[in-house]
Amino acid sequence: MLGYLLARAGIDVVVLEKHADFFRDFRGDTIHPSTLELVYELGLIEEFLKLPHQEIREFAGMFGNESIPLADLTHLPTHCKFLGFMPQWDFLNFFSEQGEKYPQFHLLMEAEVTDLIIEGNTVAGVKATTPTGELEVRAPLTVGCDGRSSTVRERAGLQVQSLGAPIDVLWFRIPRQPSDPGQVLGRFAPGKILVMLNRAEYWQCAFVIRKGAFAEIRNRGLEAFRDDVKSIAPFLGARVREINDWEQIKLLTVLVDRLRKWYRPGLLCIGDAAHAMSPVGGVGINLAIQDAVATANILAHPLSENYVSLTHLQKVQWRREFPTRATQWGQVQVQERILSAVLGSQQQLRAPWVLRLFKKFPLLRRIPARLIGIGVRPEHVKTPDVGTALESSTL
Ligand SMILES: Cc1cc2nc3c(=O)[nH]c(=O)nc-3n(C[C@H](O)[C@H](O)[C@H](O)COP(=O)(O)OP(=O)(O)OC[C@H]3O[C@@H](n4cnc5c(N)ncnc54)[C@H](O)[C@@H]3O)c2cc1C
Repeated sequence: MLGYLLARAGIDVVVLEKHADFFRDFRGDTIHPSTLELVYELGLIEEFLKLPHQEIREFAGMFGNESIPLADLTHLPTHCKFLGFMPQWDFLNFFSEQGEKYPQFHLLMEAEVTDLIIEGNTVAGVKATTPTGELEVRAPLTVGCDGRSSTVRERAGLQVQSLGAPIDVLWFRIPRQPSDPGQVLGRFAPGKILVMLNRAEYWQCAFVIRKGAFAEIRNRGLEAFRDDVKSIAPFLGARVREINDWEQIKLLTVLVDRLRKWYRPGLLCIGDAAHAMSPVGGVGINLAIQDAVATANILAHPLSENYVSLTHLQKVQWRREFPTRATQWGQVQVQERILSAVLGSQQQLRAPWVLRLFKKFPLLRRIPARLIGIGVRPEHVKTPDVGTALESSTL
C-alpha cells in the first residue's frame, strides 16, 4: 500500500517480497470500512468490489446456545457500511496491479531482504537474495514492513516490547453448505472458542487454544479434536471428518508487541514490523494500512526532495503510536478477560452482562462497530496522484 501510494505521488519505490506470490492462507481476510473508505478515496472502490468477497453488516457471538448481536456496521459514517471478507492475496494482487500502472513502482518478487546497508549510523538500503543472485538496493529511506518476524527491525537493532498473549490459534477449513447458519463470527463454549469466517464454498475456521496447548491437543488425537469442533458447531455434522490429517491444521502463534522506537536514521518500521497485532477484532491488516497511509502523507514531500530527517520519521511514530497502543490495549483486555476466561471455564457459559445489554439496546451495537470498523484516528489519503504511465504518454 505504501509502495503504491508513493509511486502514485511520483516517488520511485522498490518493494521487495520474499515469496514468489502473495498466496498465504493465514494472513487474515478482513477489509474494514476504514480501509474500504481509503479505497474509495483512491477512486478504486468500484473496481475493487468486483473482486469476489463477502459483505458483513452485522455480526454476532454465540455463547452456549444464545446468540448475542455484537456489532451493527450499517450506521457507520463511511461509504461502505460493511466489513469485507476477501483473501488477502486478492487484496495484495489488486494493489500491486494498481502500482504497476505507475512507472515509479518496482515490485521484485522472490527478493528476500537479508541485511541492511549501514553507512556511519544511517541505513542506506538493504541487501537481498534473489533467484538470480545477491542484490543491493540503496535508498534515502528503507521501510521495514516485513511483518512480525521482521528481519529489518532485527538487523536495525530496534528494541521490541512484548505485551504477551495467552492464546494461539489453529487455522483450518471445513466445506460450507448453503443451508449452514449465517455469519456468526465467534462461538463460545466452556473451554472452547471457534471463529468461523464464511468464504462461500468453505468455512475458514480459527480454533482458539491456550498458548502452548497444541502439543497436548495433538496427543489427544484427531478424533478428539474433531469432537471438540463438532461440539461447538454441531451443524457441521459429518463434515468434521474432512479434517483427517494434522497437516491440514496450521498453528498460528499469537504475538502482541511493539517497538519502543519505530525508526533510526534512514529507516522506519510500520505495520506488524512495528507492532505485531493479535487476531482479536481482525484489525491488524487495517492498522498496517493506516500506517502506510500516514507514512505516505507525512513522507511523500520530504521523499520528493530526497531528504528524510529524523523529525519526519518521528512524526510518523507520533501519529500512529496512539492508535496502536489503544488497539493493543483493547486486544489484551479481550484476550485476558474474555478469551482466557472462556478457555479456562468448565461450566455452562453465559454471555457477560455487558454483552447481554447489546441484545436489549441495539444502539450499543454501534460502539464496537465503530471501534472495529473505523478504529482510533482513521487516516485519509492526502498524497497526490501524478498520473499513470498511460496517462503521461497520452499527454
Ligand atoms: C492467527 C492470526 C489471524 C489474523 N487474522 C486477521 C484478520 O482476519 N484480519 C486482520 O486485519 N488481521 C489479522 N491478523 C493480523 C494481520 O495478519 C497482521 O496484522 C497484518 O498482516 C500485518 O500486515 P503487514 O503488512 O505489516 O505484515 P504481513 O502481512 O506479515 O506482511 C509482511 C510481508 O513481508 C514479507 N517478508 C517477510 N520477511 C521478508 C524479507 N526478509 N524480505 C522480503 N519480504 C519479506 C512477507 O512474505 C509478507 O508478504 C491475524 C493475525 C494472526 C496471528
